[in-house]
Amino acid sequence: MSDIHEHAAGDSVPELKQRIRELAGMLHACRLRLPNAPAEAMRELAESEERFALAVRGTNDGIWDWDIRTGKVFFSPPWKSMIGYEDDELENVFSTFETQLHPEDHDRVMATLNDYLAGRIPRYSVEFRFRHKDGSWRWILARGRALRDEHGTPYRMAGSHTDVTERKHDEEELRKARRDAESANSAKSAFLANMSHEIRTPMNGVIGMSELLLGTDLNETQREYLEMLKLSADSLLELLNDILDFSKIEAGRMELDAHEFDLNEVVTEIAQAMGIRAFQKRLVFLHHISPEVPLRLIGDDGRLRQILVNLIGNAIKFTHKGGVTIEVTLESSTADMVTLHFKINDTGIGIAADMRESIFEAFTQAETSTSRRYGGTGLGLAICHDLVALMQGRIWVESQPGTGSTFHFTAAFGRTSGISIKPRPPRINQVATAQASMKVLIVEDGHVSQLVGARMLEKRGHVVTLAANGREAIERCDKETFDAILMDVHMPGINGYEATARIRKTEQATGRHVPIIAMTANAMKGDRERCLAAGMDDYIAKPLRSAELFQVVEQFAHRSAVPEPAHESPVPSPPSPRPQIEPPPFDLAEFRESTGDEKLMRKLVAIFSEDAQKYLRKAEKALTAGKARPLYEAAHSLKGMLGVYAAKKALTLSSELCEYAHAGDLKGAQLMLEQLKKECALLGDALLGAFEPGI
Ligand code: ADP
Repeated sequence: MSDIHEHAAGDSVPELKQRIRELAGMLHACRLRLPNAPAEAMRELAESEERFALAVRGTNDGIWDWDIRTGKVFFSPPWKSMIGYEDDELENVFSTFETQLHPEDHDRVMATLNDYLAGRIPRYSVEFRFRHKDGSWRWILARGRALRDEHGTPYRMAGSHTDVTERKHDEEELRKARRDAESANSAKSAFLANMSHEIRTPMNGVIGMSELLLGTDLNETQREYLEMLKLSADSLLELLNDILDFSKIEAGRMELDAHEFDLNEVVTEIAQAMGIRAFQKRLVFLHHISPEVPLRLIGDDGRLRQILVNLIGNAIKFTHKGGVTIEVTLESSTADMVTLHFKINDTGIGIAADMRESIFEAFTQAETSTSRRYGGTGLGLAICHDLVALMQGRIWVESQPGTGSTFHFTAAFGRTSGISIKPRPPRINQVATAQASMKVLIVEDGHVSQLVGARMLEKRGHVVTLAANGREAIERCDKETFDAILMDVHMPGINGYEATARIRKTEQATGRHVPIIAMTANAMKGDRERCLAAGMDDYIAKPLRSAELFQVVEQFAHRSAVPEPAHESPVPSPPSPRPQIEPPPFDLAEFRESTGDEKLMRKLVAIFSEDAQKYLRKAEKALTAGKARPLYEAAHSLKGMLGVYAAKKALTLSSELCEYAHAGDLKGAQLMLEQLKKECALLGDALLGAFEPGI
């Protein structure tokens, strides 16, 4: 025992010695009360006391021991030196502790202590500022435990003080550094968003002009160069869009634009568009939506397409043999929400285990050689990750290097409730055709954009009038009627919003309503809403792409120029009929645009009849056997194939055949199949005609 006394009194202060003597006395008394205490237990007790004494001396912590009944507190010398005092400078009473507390922390600390003593919280551990002798404040972490009598009333409490000033300081530095980094990052994101947005405007000229040039007479070398130019411009635009999206997400400016859409349409259209690439690489390419998945959904189909295009694009890019399959199943559903599970499987190069998480971070590629060998920026999956999160889902990958990968993601959508929400027409491979030549006014101050828009529409058979600014547009509208107006938003003088407002005001007197389509390189949150709020009917982003331009403009073709006259206004005479354009079985320009390669086009033409016949025969066989499912599958394959050829009528017929088959209406399907056979024959001839050797 005497050894222990020596150790414990190492700090050689009378008080501590006194305390230890008391403890030794208590121990002795215990021993007396336990006359038969085994020697073993006594040794353990002694050892544990020794360990405690060593521990106390080994740390810089201060010790306190409070006799709650008397209010006396033992503060160890390190407890006092921690705040700059000698042992005899501070009195050993509770108020010594209380008066050193920072006024702002005092009540919180006392409340914590009271809560602990009253048994309302299990642990006493609290941080506070404590006054130093030199007037500064130290941060202290106090911890302690109470001893309680048989009624649970505390009679003694002991614990430690640790000086955590440095840690607090580091934490504060870290917090500040994080705040600085976050604000620098969001400034960077905002800058990137603005820059990529600005660069999109001149890209309008580059892409539009090369599209127009491709439609002119060119020799083979010129065409080859131009196709390369167009390809580079397209990938530059893709990159800009990625950067814009990513920086919008980072800057918190990305929002989903929810409306009603058809899932089947989305998946099929993407499969058609991407199928060409798979076909070029001779990959098997399949997609399937489980029958239990509801097809009419509410959500942002544009962003869903973006995720799918990214994942399917990667799957095709990283696969050299075998194939790619897309599967959609139902994960869960409630009365008004469904969560879908999308799987994109490939038999490609696979991803090493240690990269499976990090590829979802921005600018990360699985191997350093990826960029050189496959291109890309490593942004695609980061964007998918964030978009999926916006859709309340998650994304992950299962993969085996050398065998393939399966990317999974879930996403939540609203169910349609019968309340009609205006569906937005799909923008990819649109099936609508120009019914009639339209009179279109283009209001645009940039020459390049004027020319691009005008030539595209004129080549399509529409009649275009140009106005260089808002004022000219208003004047034109006073004199003439148009079937649609394409209105640039940013123009000097009267801008697009203002011009629209004035046109709408004049229309109040006549009851007319000319469709106005906003044209802008703005792709920021709220722009679409702003255009619609200004009285515009739709919105198209620059750079203009012919397919999208035709779709947006021609959706207004079937509308009467004077739709619903105001009650009191006189009934105006109907518009004069316009010459009908008989649509050809396929659209050569679109076919060319989507394949982007003359040789491939010829190959596709050569195999058309054989392929079409194969599916038509399958469909016929299924119909004869009265089997709706194989009929649906044949019609579906046919539909996928026809999309590649930009054969709108045949595509519509095959879509309808799909619907009849899906609904089990074999009679309707029979009629549709007959028409489809005829259309495919016409299409076959038209394709061969367009690609006769020498043309
Ligand atoms: P990018 O394709 O533009 O490089 P992504 O973010 O889309 O960027 O992909 C990041 C990386 O993840 C790719 O560079 C590639 O290394 C890896 N990866 C993505 N999808 C696949 C896939 N299906 N098979 C193999 N590797 C993939």
